[in-house]
Amino acid sequence: MFTGVFENSMMWKAQKDEIVQLSTIDLREFGLGPRRTVDDTPYGGGDGMLLKPEPLFAAVAKAKENDPTAKVLLMTPRGQRWKQSLAQQWADSGEGYIFICGRYEGYDERIVTLVDEQVSVGDYVLTGGELPAMTIIDSIVRLIPGVLGGETSAAIESFSDGETLEFPQYTRPEEFEGMKVPGVLLSGNHARIAQWRADNSFKAD
Ligand code: SAH
Repeated sequence: MFTGVFENSMMWKAQKDEIVQLSTIDLREFGLGPRRTVDDTPYGGGDGMLLKPEPLFAAVAKAKENDPTAKVLLMTPRGQRWKQSLAQQWADSGEGYIFICGRYEGYDERIVTLVDEQVSVGDYVLTGGELPAMTIIDSIVRLIPGVLGGETSAAIESFSDGETLEFPQYTRPEEFEGMKVPGVLLSGNHARIAQWRADNSFKAD
């Protein structure tokens, strides 16, 4: 699942420029028995399967070999809600991160003893922790200095002050299917443009 995202756009560029290193570990590598089992039924009954502790612990140990001080993060709907200010904090930290991605019904709770932070991408349930991990990684990587083209381009984005959403933007042509670009943006008057943009930025809920 990760290859498409890691090999494109800013994630690709950040790795090419040696600003970040991204790698994945397949839990199956640490699966048990001839079938490399990584899941089992929950004690106490219930639907679905859980990731077993042994492969998870072994995989985290393996990840720590690459980066012994890396923080361990668990993707889970009950975690703290991801937001732009956290992305900024983590981008500034320069630390390494290990993302544990749950699957099926979840994971054996004992994995939590290895975890520094539990993180959620929102109040909805996804099939696995991969999309949350990719979402979080993308939001951090693009904030690391040198990744985006203009150093300032992330500074004026939505949520950069915690609440303001970016103003509407337009590009050529000036008129498309009867819809015109607001005249003030064509005026060349930078003060009026700045005022229009401030007036048309929105506050997030
Ligand atoms: N049974 C669980 C959901 C399991 S979904 C529950 O009711 O809470 C399978 C895995 O996907 C989870 O273990 C978690 O790693 C990941 N996941 C699903 N939704 C997520 C979210 N909103 N944020 C972060 N991770 C999520």
